[in-house]
Amino acid sequence: MGLLSSLLRLLLIGLLFAALSRLFARVFRGHPQRRVPPQPESVPERLVQDPVCGLCLPERQALSARSGTRQVHFCSESCRNAYLAKAG
Ligand SMILES: [Zn+2]
Repeated sequence: MGLLSSLLRLLLIGLLFAALSRLFARVFRGHPQRRVPPQPESVPERLVQDPVCGLCLPERQALSARSGTRQVHFCSESCRNAYLAKAG
């Protein structure tokens, strides 16, 4: 009789464990790990070169000026002024 009751206890523990693991699986499936969306900063930015000092910088941060038909970019206003003074 002792053997049968211990087997029964094992069976009950097994059933409980299965139920718990199923519950956990449902909980975790209900909350899937959110994928991190790509950050705007990680998008490769177009680099432009300052023709005055030769510095490369993202186009977004550059100052721009039109020189004839083409657009030129500068790291700072002083570079732009220098370029425009030379060009004009
Ligand atoms: Zn510059």
